[in-house]
Amino acid sequence: MDLSIVTPCYNEEESVETFYCEVWRVIKLLKINCEVVFVNDGSTDNTLYSLRKIKKLGNVIIKIVNVEHNEGQSAALIRGLRVAKGGHILTIDVDLQQEPMILLDIWKYRNQFDIVQMIQEKRSDNWIKNILSNLFYRLIKVVTGFEFIANVGEFRMINRRVRDKILNEALPGDILRFIVQSLNFKTRFVQYSARKRTFGSSKYSFARMFNLAIKSIISSTNRPLYQVLSLGIFFTFSFFLYCLYAVIVGMQGAAVIGWTSTILLLGTGVIVIMIGLIVIGIYLAQQINYSREILKYIQRKKHFE
Ligand code: UDP
Ligand code: MG
Repeated sequence: MDLSIVTPCYNEEESVETFYCEVWRVIKLLKINCEVVFVNDGSTDNTLYSLRKIKKLGNVIIKIVNVEHNEGQSAALIRGLRVAKGGHILTIDVDLQQEPMILLDIWKYRNQFDIVQMIQEKRSDNWIKNILSNLFYRLIKVVTGFEFIANVGEFRMINRRVRDKILNEALPGDILRFIVQSLNFKTRFVQYSARKRTFGSSKYSFARMFNLAIKSIISSTNRPLYQVLSLGIFFTFSFFLYCLYAVIVGMQGAAVIGWTSTILLLGTGVIVIMIGLIVIGIYLAQQINYSREILKYIQRKKHFE
């Protein structure tokens, strides 16, 4: 099998058929052995019915992965990668904002590059979405220390080595584009301009995007925990110095009666709580690291052995 096309679908009953027709045209032109893996990500409309309808056409091998409840685009793609048998895998949205025809331009790169990553030329979203997404990338940089390339979505072609590595690394809740960018494979970037959605509407509301932003930070790094820990250590030390100051002022008799003891009582309480939180934080961070490793180990055993 030369190529697997992996496509997540969430309430896309109208797009499926047109998308399939475009894909079919490209496959015919390229004359390659290809399968299309549709992941129905818990759709509540007739997406599954539309998928079953095109499966009956029998032109190309079509696999349908049906997910009971909506889990999000990344999780859907990862499920699709698991069943993909192709030497190369193209991940592409079903809404036709990304054109399957791009395969005609990028197929030639398949042996030179591990990843052919498409970058959106001009974002067709509204300006609020653009500002928020810029802010998000800045926040990601501050929090994770890693500079993620903006305007990079899940539209890419990868080889089998990359696919295996992704399946090794990805844990539930991870965002695929961040995993891929942190892998350091030989990558060729190709610009494309996204078309306007032909059917339906974007599945990313602001609330959803916000949720995704938080999730992607939490799942990709423990750094926020360490940053709060450093803040805790700084304040513990400051409180300690202030208590010392209160003792000195008290011993010189320059304070109102009861001030030194009140500060000492409050200060010691705060310091004890802070130290407790710091210790809990350190244990927690270590446990999170352990559980990630254990989860990855279980995953590897399940899928590769
Ligand atoms: N999608 C999905 N699960 C979701 C949200 C989206 O499988 O929870 C799919 C959707 O059907 C589409 C692709 O992911 O094929 C991109 O979604 P969308 O077009 O809504 O995103 P946008 O282009 O607006 O960023
Ligand atoms: Mg879209």
